[in-house]
Amino acid sequence: MPAPVSSPSEFAFELALCARLEQTTDWLPARQLGASVASPGSRIIDVCAVVPGPEFDERARITDSEIPATAIESDVGAGSAVFWRDGFDCHPARARRATDRAVEVGFFESERRRSREYVRRAARYPHDWFSRLVGIENKPDLGSPGDLLRQLRLDVSLAVFDEVILSTESYVTGAHLNRIPGEVGVWRFDPDTGDREVVREPQPLSPGSTGVEPTEYHSLHTDVALVSPAEKRTARLRLAERAYGKGWRAYDLPACAHARADADGRPACAHFDRVVDPGSECGADCSAFEAADPPELDRDGLRESRTGWVADPAGAVRRQSGLDRYF
Ligand code: SF4
Repeated sequence: MPAPVSSPSEFAFELALCARLEQTTDWLPARQLGASVASPGSRIIDVCAVVPGPEFDERARITDSEIPATAIESDVGAGSAVFWRDGFDCHPARARRATDRAVEVGFFESERRRSREYVRRAARYPHDWFSRLVGIENKPDLGSPGDLLRQLRLDVSLAVFDEVILSTESYVTGAHLNRIPGEVGVWRFDPDTGDREVVREPQPLSPGSTGVEPTEYHSLHTDVALVSPAEKRTARLRLAERAYGKGWRAYDLPACAHARADADGRPACAHFDRVVDPGSECGADCSAFEAADPPELDRDGLRESRTGWVADPAGAVRRQSGLDRYF
């Protein structure tokens, strides 16, 4: 389960930053994604921004959803169809899940031969669709840093991202900069105006080398796991795919008469006149709550108009529905 952001203002800060990045860069921001490898789920990055690469359009043509990394890395090719289980070198349950999902999103085509399912790739996977993964940790108030330094140290030593940035609303002092690992870039971001000042540029990390992931912290020592370049390659593929499928508007709007979606698609409250966190602020516990249907939000339309992401692309999916007519 993704860790909840720590406070409503942190949520509003995060959404404001994602909205701004979408407007001012060609990056695709996504929120709250798993960024550890040896101990999955123990590190959730606030924002993972995917920087498009030369094959981005090819990837966008396949599907608007996440393609499972297990399917991408399988031996299922584009030539002759293979019995689904023969295409994978992993647990059959995992292979089954990946097959079902890959068929569903149109990355695999499936056919039945004597009650056995055979699959082939519907499309070549364009590995160069992203050029960089940028991990952004938000800490609006550096006065309550919580686990911040430990998280940033993990991000730097594991290096699953190409670069890591700390984004804050606080004034950043020299003492702060000295404490934050030198590889981590620092932005000062104002969620009200959208102004973003680069206080320090990030240093490039080495996603192609072995990473070191702290897995357990004891009073006198820390247990670590070595993460091979191959494991990191898979983790990066999974992160990029999850980010592409998920984006940053994966929240429900409040079922309240005062709820609105603002121009960026953020959940706003007309009563309190600000962006709200529906998960922690809205509902019967709110003094002004009035039950109603949640407002409409065209997540796909907004995302498509502001990024290179393509909703419901024709490519492999159309071929798939064409095939359906014959099987
Ligand atoms: S529940 Fe409260 S905070 Fe949420 S939209 Fe309604 S009035 Fe606003």
